[in-house]
Amino acid sequence: MSTSKRVSVITTPIYYVNDVPHVGHAYTTIAADTLARARRLGGEDVFFLTGTDEHGQNIERIARERGISEQEHCDLISAAFRSLWERYDIRYDRFIRTTEDVHRRGVLKLWGLLRGAKTPDGRDAVYLGKYSGWYCPRCEGFKDEEELRQPGNVCPDHERPCEWTEEENFFFRLSAYEAWLRETIESDRLRIRPDSRKNEILGVIKQGLKDFSVSRARVKWGIPVPEQPDHVLYVWVDALSNYVTALGFADDAEPYRHYWAGGDERLHLIGKDIIRFHCLYWPAILHAAGVPVPTREFGQGFITRDGRKLSKTTGNVIDPVALVERLGPDAARYFVLREAPYGADWDFTDSAFVGRYNADLANDLGNLVSRALTMVLRYCDGRVPARWEPGPATALAPATVDFTRAFAASVCAPADGLAAKVLGRYEDIDFSSALTELWSWVGQFNQAIVQAEPWTLAKDPARRAELEAFLYRLLEGVRLVAVLASPVMPRAASRIFGMLGLGEREPGPDDLAWGRLEPGRPLGSIVPLFPRVDRDAEPTPGSDGTPAVKAASKKQKETPVSETTPPPAPPRPEAAPAAAAAPSTAPTGDRIDIADFAKVELRAAKVTAAEKIAGSKKLVRLQVDLGSETRQVVAGIADAYEAEALVGKTVVLVANLKPAKLMGVESNGMVLAGSVDGKAVLCTFDAEVAPGTKVK
Ligand SMILES: [Zn+2]
Repeated sequence: MSTSKRVSVITTPIYYVNDVPHVGHAYTTIAADTLARARRLGGEDVFFLTGTDEHGQNIERIARERGISEQEHCDLISAAFRSLWERYDIRYDRFIRTTEDVHRRGVLKLWGLLRGAKTPDGRDAVYLGKYSGWYCPRCEGFKDEEELRQPGNVCPDHERPCEWTEEENFFFRLSAYEAWLRETIESDRLRIRPDSRKNEILGVIKQGLKDFSVSRARVKWGIPVPEQPDHVLYVWVDALSNYVTALGFADDAEPYRHYWAGGDERLHLIGKDIIRFHCLYWPAILHAAGVPVPTREFGQGFITRDGRKLSKTTGNVIDPVALVERLGPDAARYFVLREAPYGADWDFTDSAFVGRYNADLANDLGNLVSRALTMVLRYCDGRVPARWEPGPATALAPATVDFTRAFAASVCAPADGLAAKVLGRYEDIDFSSALTELWSWVGQFNQAIVQAEPWTLAKDPARRAELEAFLYRLLEGVRLVAVLASPVMPRAASRIFGMLGLGEREPGPDDLAWGRLEPGRPLGSIVPLFPRVDRDAEPTPGSDGTPAVKAASKKQKETPVSETTPPPAPPRPEAAPAAAAAPSTAPTGDRIDIADFAKVELRAAKVTAAEKIAGSKKLVRLQVDLGSETRQVVAGIADAYEAEALVGKTVVLVANLKPAKLMGVESNGMVLAGSVDGKAVLCTFDAEVAPGTKVK
């Protein structure tokens, strides 16, 4: 990183107000917000811009149909976008609307520059020409003949006939900028990613670029062309220019000079469907006008749902309001960024959403935070424990020093490197990798709790310093995870800071270093972070636009710590995919180490309810009491046991398996059983054992 602060502009496209927001808008805006937050966290100077595109014939038509004025329509839809961004915790620096006067004046300034501009070969960059072709009023665009469906010259997108139209328009001489565009893009002075998008654009240039018209007759709702007031400036000049007009291009204002003209990076996040306009038209227009061009553009992938294209006509949509209301903004942001690399197409399924929420947020992160804080509450009076500093002054016994040093080396030492690594992935616009990296750390911290057994240390006064050193590092780990997750999950990060006694606030650059917690400071109160949800009990995020049911009525269990019971819900080992309790064959071949066995958490579980799963011969749904919590488990024993006969039995449960879904029912653990002639025989106890008792 350079010594001086990098200055950058990050933008989303401005969204057209012909309709309410859809999930693609939310996806881009979440990504831009996350990148902006990550850069702010890294101490950079960022301007994050989004807004709405409000002109054009479509808006005239829709407003007429609704019986309101164009401006009233724009006000309503634009407000819907802003209110959605509020729900998603989007923190933009500026929300531009193309009906603002400062935009109009900026567009006219750009137009003036274009009118006076010459191409590299000395011709006018803008000229009057005759445009004729098949025009679709819905698309507000001319269609290529081969695109139209016959008979009737029907627009394939709108199922309506196009009109043969001839008009005199202003044209931008894009063809004269071919060489300049190719060189700019090939050299990465305009860095287009993913690479597939860069190649796509270079392919388009290779085929030859056509001039395009930049004004339209017959449209009133827009910015009139000064030389031809019955025409308006078309979308390429009107909408794209928001990226500079929002910053104060019209008046050469400070934000424009600082962030755009004088900035280090001008970055557009865009959908892959608008990549040509952003990567060819827009840079060429700016270059012709003598204005600095974008330096980086990233095309995001498309989302499908349940394997099918999103479509309003078929009702296969993901309502972004329902999505954010379902499990809250952090969960929605986390899911869309974690589920797939940002540039790739991916498929949304409701079960993947809930599954990731339960596994990554409720289990991995939620449990880590809750266990760390609960132990400090219990063993350290709710105050940040003493940090252990290596050196001659330490009173720790030699064995203790070895343990702590080994722990420090394995888990805590690379923490500084972690921050750089995760921030680097954000910077690559690779959110999924950033989160994968971070969550591998969450897993390591959870694993460290199992290995260190702080509840055992707590019983031995001679190991007090060791206990405190461990818990201090654990709290620091939790703090750093919150800091690095904050660009994606600002709300959870702030709540974790509150629990750590740092006050609910967004982490900043000063929080990146290891060891910021002051020993002796009291923690805040522990609040549930991500309560588990039942996959089946919740509706899918409204495909019909109806308000979704509020997230998670169940409170996350706070983990009580007792002398006999370690904090429950340990980390889920990475390797083991959950399975039904179908009898499994004994492992053959290599023997395992005791440490391998220690990864499996076996507990006594008392069956409190049992019910055969409809449609399955073998599967039964059990509710089991683990002392500190109740779990739902699916077991493949229905052919050997009547459901009612199971209630009251105490069985052996693999308690730290990742959740799995069987016949659509979630299972959180595995009941152990032998197999006799293919029929299950349950493992039980020889004498009364309390629910939750560890089996080893
Ligand atoms: Zn159309």
